[in-house]
Amino acid sequence: MSSMIIKVDNQSVEFEVKQLLNSFHISDELEIEMFRSAKDISTIIKNDGEKLCFIEKVDDGFKETISYKKALFKALKSIYPSSNHPWGILTGIRPVKIAQDLIKKNIDNITIKKMLNEIYYISDEKIDLMLRIAKIQSKYLDDIEKSYSIYISIPFCPSRCNYCSFFSCSLDKEQNLIDPYLDSLEKELKFFYSNKVIYDKELLSIYIGGGTPSTLSINQFQRLIKILQTYVPLKNVKEFTFEAGRPDTLDREKLEAIKMSPVTRLSINPQTMNDVTLKKIGRNHTVSDIIECFKISRDIGFDNINMDLILGLEDESIENITKTLSHIKELKPDSLTVHTLAIKKASTLINDSQGALDKLRTYNIEDFMKISADAADYLGMKPYYLYRQKNMLSNLENIGYALEDKISLYNIAIMEEKQTIIAFGSGSVSKFTYPEENRIERVSNIKDVKLYIDNVEQVIAKKNKEVEKWI
Ligand code: SF4
Repeated sequence: MSSMIIKVDNQSVEFEVKQLLNSFHISDELEIEMFRSAKDISTIIKNDGEKLCFIEKVDDGFKETISYKKALFKALKSIYPSSNHPWGILTGIRPVKIAQDLIKKNIDNITIKKMLNEIYYISDEKIDLMLRIAKIQSKYLDDIEKSYSIYISIPFCPSRCNYCSFFSCSLDKEQNLIDPYLDSLEKELKFFYSNKVIYDKELLSIYIGGGTPSTLSINQFQRLIKILQTYVPLKNVKEFTFEAGRPDTLDREKLEAIKMSPVTRLSINPQTMNDVTLKKIGRNHTVSDIIECFKISRDIGFDNINMDLILGLEDESIENITKTLSHIKELKPDSLTVHTLAIKKASTLINDSQGALDKLRTYNIEDFMKISADAADYLGMKPYYLYRQKNMLSNLENIGYALEDKISLYNIAIMEEKQTIIAFGSGSVSKFTYPEENRIERVSNIKDVKLYIDNVEQVIAKKNKEVEKWI
């Protein structure tokens, strides 16, 4: 999007208005002026001084931010009618949370549908999806709300994927930091679990994510597990996920070591089952490596394996997606997370030419989504969590599908923000929930491995301030 002039007479809504504008992926230079006259909001859009659109009236009586967004949405839609917005003016990342809140108020589905359509202009199809997921999640919310989870960050990767915006370090350059990193993780865990109140709280799930946690050597992995077993009460933990993200970091011996540990859920993430694409996105493994890794995992007894896919990767056609899905159908994972590519500022993809990005935006991701949903259905899975990100192709969403008994409690907890998650390690973010006050506090750990190692005492002190309030 080239530079634009946006004038909004209410500073407090400016951020949300910009977010919505972003979802139109406009390349023209526009001047957008929004102001409130009497009780209606007027929107004037000009290009090179020439007036393109003037919207004077929007449905009023909504929260001010919503009224401004509706006014802008109507104006932009009149100029760009083919722009895809199944989520209407909704720019937040957790749509299901809105449905959950309305269900909690005992509002019936027909009224919820009407409200979501009138307030946010969400399509019927997406509202049905929200309600379907909210219903599935409702079975698990009691357990989730009365407990907490922990997240452990292992921010090392064997190579950088071109779409990635996560914080992670190159294994080649920073391998020597892994052992001191584990020392610091131990200090964090030892400190917090020496607090009896935390120790006695109900711990629901553990998630070791990254980065690529399977970059740890067998010894390092076993040391991490030993640290957890020493300090953390693991006995009643219902779910323990280990992201074994990439097959280039795994072999039978490492998978057997993981199987011997308390890990119950493994995530093996191909993103695509096309060798050409794997190369283009910067992965050092092949489709047959993924298949082999999956088969070994099953062979040694893993009965809860997730696979992640991304739709909209460079040059992937519907034939490529169909091929990926036919591999997935053969492998039969227990859950499948389908992401729509999000073009992130921190990724190397954003540095590609505007032409390449514009091309990505022409993809008909809705068709890709549809065949992925069909594949999940074929495997007997149901959609159970959903979230959105900024700059997603076709303004769509990411959906987690799972077999009924393989639904990840951690994924529901993190996406719906119904639970406190204490996060350990560099770049991780703890979330403390205060349901009575409808409030969430976040505490971030330092996003630099070396600085984290050198300053772990400060990291602990900062987080402990919020932990003290929470307990
Ligand atoms: S493996 Fe994951 S964290 Fe690592 S670079 Fe690729 S997408 Fe990013």
